Amino acid sequence: MRSRVELARRFEPHHFERERPDGTVLDIRGIPVPGRGFVTIYTDITQRARAEPALRESEARFRSLTELSSDWYWEQDASFRYRSGSGKAMGGIRLADLILGKANWELGLDIEGGWDAHRALLERRLPFRDVLVQGSLPGLPKMYARLSGEPIVDEHGNLKGYRGVARDVTMEVQAQERVHYLATHDGLTGLPNRAHFNQLLNRQVQSARRYEGRFALMFIDLDGFKAINDTFGHEAGDILLVEMAARFSGSVRASDVVARLGGDEFVVLVQEASDIEQVNAVARKILSAAIKPVTIEGRECRVTASVGICMFPRDAQDEQALLRNADVAMYRAKAQGKNNVQFFSADDDFRSLERMALESGLRQALLHNEFLLHYQAKLDLKTGAISGVEALLRWRPPELGTVLPLQFMALAEETGLIVPIGKWVLKAACDQNVAWQRQGLPPVCVAVNISPRQFTDELPDDVATALQASGMEPHLLELELNEGTVMGNAARSVRLLGELKRLGVRIAIDDFGAGFLSLAQIDGLPIDTLKVDRSVIREIDGNTGDGSVAQAIIAMGKTLSLTVVASGVETPEQQAYLSEQACDEIQGHQFCKPALPDALADLLRRHVPRPGR
Ligand code: C2E
Ligand code: MG
Repeated sequence: MRSRVELARRFEPHHFERERPDGTVLDIRGIPVPGRGFVTIYTDITQRARAEPALRESEARFRSLTELSSDWYWEQDASFRYRSGSGKAMGGIRLADLILGKANWELGLDIEGGWDAHRALLERRLPFRDVLVQGSLPGLPKMYARLSGEPIVDEHGNLKGYRGVARDVTMEVQAQERVHYLATHDGLTGLPNRAHFNQLLNRQVQSARRYEGRFALMFIDLDGFKAINDTFGHEAGDILLVEMAARFSGSVRASDVVARLGGDEFVVLVQEASDIEQVNAVARKILSAAIKPVTIEGRECRVTASVGICMFPRDAQDEQALLRNADVAMYRAKAQGKNNVQFFSADDDFRSLERMALESGLRQALLHNEFLLHYQAKLDLKTGAISGVEALLRWRPPELGTVLPLQFMALAEETGLIVPIGKWVLKAACDQNVAWQRQGLPPVCVAVNISPRQFTDELPDDVATALQASGMEPHLLELELNEGTVMGNAARSVRLLGELKRLGVRIAIDDFGAGFLSLAQIDGLPIDTLKVDRSVIREIDGNTGDGSVAQAIIAMGKTLSLTVVASGVETPEQQAYLSEQACDEIQGHQFCKPALPDALADLLRRHVPRPGR
């Protein structure tokens, strides 16, 4: 490098700065003028020279802050292409390597409001703030960022570009998306939940009204789900629900919506369904999807589905009416033997009113003292004595006569009303038993039916309370549970039955032979009595008196040392056959019909035992 003096001597231009002893700083430029020597220009740059260290310091501070900050800083040129960018993206990749030389819309990203609107804003040189951009840059997973920027203009007002910041908000947005998902979807099956479905249905109704569209709403309820839940436990029930959700979703078009309203209730929105046949075909697919076996804990389980369908606009024109009518149609499907499809019909409106009236009547019945018990005696075939009575519930709503359990028990069970009603039955039966004894009648065992909904941890307490309040001896009470109630969940049944046995009461399995239980399953249970179902007794041939199923059940019941009671005995032939098979007891119209307490007291008083009847 040549010195300034040397440059001057060699007649070349030169430029340097000098600080004078008084502290001023001069900028000195020497320009050679041929034949005339040099023109030297001195400029006082004291102020600038003093500002420079401050500027350098400020730049260094800015750099260190941008490096520390998790935000990204960027600058774009006048055609909105990145010319610089600080910061690192996921995996330590330098952002600059991905974006330099490209405009945002060339990066394959999406922006809220769309790129056209954003470019129009840039053309107008407007600032923008916190605009959401999403997408994935090459080699990176999907990300979300919020961009803010402002235009850079030169001293003449010409656009030089944009500068701004970007903030990675991927985690934030994903968390929000997750919260939204959880609020709108069923946690178990991942299907839209009730709240979300209501919104979707609302939108569907609006759009169908506007464009004169037609669609169908399908209400699906699983038949026998409760038995699986009670038998195998809630986890097994959950597995079944998840499987059903997947099968239903697989049975419809991608544009249709399957949602879970709760429990074992599903709905399907069948879009653009003008043709009843087409909707029927979808419903049939759903029925066959439901009925295929599901393996739970190594065992094959099977449920069926009952489907009710309401068509828009034919059957209903708003969301509430659609849901209500599809539900009503579904109930008709249940009433018609389950595992079938029913379309809503105007008659259903009337039936649903009936059902609602029944439900509200049932709710009032306990308060208004409208229940009573009839009693049906059982006969000991060996001694000819009355071995006990069964309490049978009757409902007498004002001006309606006597309503039998068949007409209200399913509704009581479904609504849970059976729980308080069942408590009342226990108490009333025990009180009656004690009342008969006080009238001087011989102590007689009273059997009370217990519904599946009552077979919970509360039952032993309810039984103990009824016994205590009446003062009845526990061995005079027998609880009748049907097969479905004790089936399967063996551990829970054994525990609950054990608790009941410890109270000193007797346990009977009711309706045996009607369903699923085998004697082998009963073997482990602490029970005393086996009541053979009416359907088995009915099969005993009136002429030949042949009943092989009844015979086998009686024989096996005896090997387990159980008292075997035949229910629904209607003819002398049946009684004779059962007597021959050494069946212990019979119950049925042949001996005695259910009767009011006073009539039964008469029977107890007058009955003369005739051994070997
Ligand atoms: P279940 O426990 O099997 O009761 C026997 C049913 O058969 C009674 O019907 C009885 O009237 C009827 N029955 C008795 N002998 C004959 C006969 O020879 N022929 C015919 N065809 N029927 C006969 P009911 O009283 O209508 O009760 C029906 C069912 O309702 C009962 O069946 C029981 O499961 C349920 N139930 C009745 N009372 C109660 C109750 O207090 N609580 C609960 N949870 N369920 C009850
Ligand atoms: Mg019974």
